[in-house]
Amino acid sequence: MSKPVAEAASAADRRARQPEAAQAPEYVLEARDVSKHFTVRGALGRTSVVRAVEDATVRLRPGQILALVGESGSGKTTLARMLARFHEPTRGEIVLRGEPLSGSRRARRTYHSEVQLIFQDPFGSLNPLHRVRYNLDRALRLHHPQLSAAEREERMTQLLERVSLTPAAEFAAKFPHELSGGQRQRVVIARALAVEPRVLLGDEPISMLDVSIRLEMLNLLQRLRTEDGLALLYITHDIASARYLCDEIAVMYAGQMVESGPKEDVIASPQHPYTKLLIESSPDPERGVGDREVFFAGADELGEPPSLIDPPAGCRFHPRCPFAMQECLEQAPPRTELGGGHWATCWLHAKGRAGELADTTHAAATAARRDALQGA
Ligand code: SF4
Repeated sequence: MSKPVAEAASAADRRARQPEAAQAPEYVLEARDVSKHFTVRGALGRTSVVRAVEDATVRLRPGQILALVGESGSGKTTLARMLARFHEPTRGEIVLRGEPLSGSRRARRTYHSEVQLIFQDPFGSLNPLHRVRYNLDRALRLHHPQLSAAEREERMTQLLERVSLTPAAEFAAKFPHELSGGQRQRVVIARALAVEPRVLLGDEPISMLDVSIRLEMLNLLQRLRTEDGLALLYITHDIASARYLCDEIAVMYAGQMVESGPKEDVIASPQHPYTKLLIESSPDPERGVGDREVFFAGADELGEPPSLIDPPAGCRFHPRCPFAMQECLEQAPPRTELGGGHWATCWLHAKGRAGELADTTHAAATAARRDALQGA
């Protein structure tokens, strides 16, 4: 379905009034070398610093879908929350359309009209005491105060139709608990679109949905980027859905970005052992599901993700990495540019040993390392 004329015109009018539209910067949203540290108080009153994100950079072009992948606790959600301005970075800066952010109330309002966050739990995102109509109307009143009640009603119908909730009047009259999980997430997306954003930040937007409707939701997100030129940061621990939806993949481990590049390059030829582990643990009908079992067996043997209060020295992945060498324990690995926008931070590249990544599976490398340790 194409974007309704009234809605498209409204967005175009608003953006045409912005003086920088004529020379639009390449990136609509950037996080430049951002870090986020939280101070936590322990049982005996001692304070500790959780280094949730360290020097992460993310760049989104209009119409681009970037997947941010990593396991739980990798810092993906904290990074998304900084991009949504729910957390201020401890270091680094967030840049919208080439402009660093200001802290003024007006600047914040403008920012939230351009960048919208979609949460994992659609039920928790909607006011359960109010019907869908109220939930959508509130966003329209807040961000488009110039609209009359009739115009808001018309816009609401258009929004519900855009996310395929038809007949719109019927869905507008329902309470959130009367909808399925997929329908609720569609309402959440419609509410985000009510603001006419340029960027959607989807924090595991399909992970709480039934498997049967996940594909529908991914197709809806794909359609929104094609029709509206929306940029999407798709945050997930599921590399299979990232593979389906996105253009580029960025991989986070223990608060740091470890690899990024075009989807085909990263999936076909991962250049960091952690990315390789994620891909090999992802269900793949061609490869069978046995690798998933191997992954969990390997994870048990090699340990859990590290503490972000006292992360390992050197490469943070070294306690779990079957390729680890002495440098990995002592110094953070340098970033290696691999061409075509693909890069990775791993000593294997600096030491001329990157070929080992292609020559073996993570599981085989783990088994070989275990045998070597037992034989030593
Ligand atoms: Fe493994 Fe070393 Fe590369 Fe880290 S730097 S991923 S420990 S080989």
